[in-house]
Amino acid sequence: MTGPLPDTMRAMVLDRPGSPLRLATLPRPEPAVGQVLLRVSACAVCRTDLHVVDGELPDPCLPLVPGHEIVGEVVACGPGTQRHPVGRRVGVPWLGWTCGHCSYCEAGAENLCPSARFTGYTLDGGYAEYTVADERFCFPLPDAYDDLHSAPLLCAGLIGHRAYRMALAHPFGGDVTHLGLYGFGAAAHLIAQVAVADGRRIYAFTRPGDTTAQDHARQLGACWAGDADVLPPRRLDAALIFAPAGALVPAALAVLRPGGGVVCAGIHMSDIPSFDYARLWQERSIRSVANLTRADGEDFLAHAARQPLAVHSVAYPLAEANAALDDLRAGRLQGAAVLQPTHA
Ligand SMILES: [Zn+2]
Ligand SMILES: [Zn+2]
Repeated sequence: MTGPLPDTMRAMVLDRPGSPLRLATLPRPEPAVGQVLLRVSACAVCRTDLHVVDGELPDPCLPLVPGHEIVGEVVACGPGTQRHPVGRRVGVPWLGWTCGHCSYCEAGAENLCPSARFTGYTLDGGYAEYTVADERFCFPLPDAYDDLHSAPLLCAGLIGHRAYRMALAHPFGGDVTHLGLYGFGAAAHLIAQVAVADGRRIYAFTRPGDTTAQDHARQLGACWAGDADVLPPRRLDAALIFAPAGALVPAALAVLRPGGGVVCAGIHMSDIPSFDYARLWQERSIRSVANLTRADGEDFLAHAARQPLAVHSVAYPLAEANAALDDLRAGRLQGAAVLQPTHA
């Protein structure tokens, strides 16, 4: 597209947690120093957006445009930018800015930077026709995925990948051949394909009775799929928990072999019930995954370019963001909801 940029844009705005998003006309943002202006073509809906909208995460920057799995075309470059020319398609993830000089940033753990800013939480995000982003936190996207199918790679894919790599790196685990996935949504449906291609056996646990999700897991290569309160046919080497239910932590520990690890991949969970020490005993472990680093993004997107992943996206118009959030909250989605603005 060419021609002058409009002065205003449509966006979905959170005025206060616990209320529905409001369709608003806002001034189109201008890229500041180091930022690019993107015309948004797709923005996937992440469970974290639900936690923000529902008030389960503290201190969002209000009023807020949510959304942190943004695909857009660079349409203007702010002062001092040099990485992404006008016309390039890029993706914007959750990690939107870091300080670059704290002990975490210097140690390659910028995901833990105490000054970090997050897209669609402490920075405006992609539930809008336009957004601005720090060019250092924008990724070029693999050509094999169109906009609708690349958006879920930017958080579901990235965070799933970080959680998966953490499970493989567990020091007492030995080989991770038998891997459990709790919650078979946007993240699990992608990392299951990566793990199967790596020769691992996937056990998919869903809400009790969700046979649609269980069928989806088997179609994507899971060797077993069942209800989260059912024992799998054997002990597992590791488990990734994507569902926000704390009761899954002791449930997952109970199916691990000695030395196995549970990785909690979500930003929020309900309280974890108490459990007897025997579940943790024998060097089982529990870890959480927080955010992502830019290196995670580069790694995972390079992987997605090499291995064609079947991305299950369900498109919604931008103005239907509340319906997309409701469908995610109710567990009615297979794969990822993706908002698509229509530009006049
Ligand atoms: Zn830092
Ligand atoms: Zn996310």
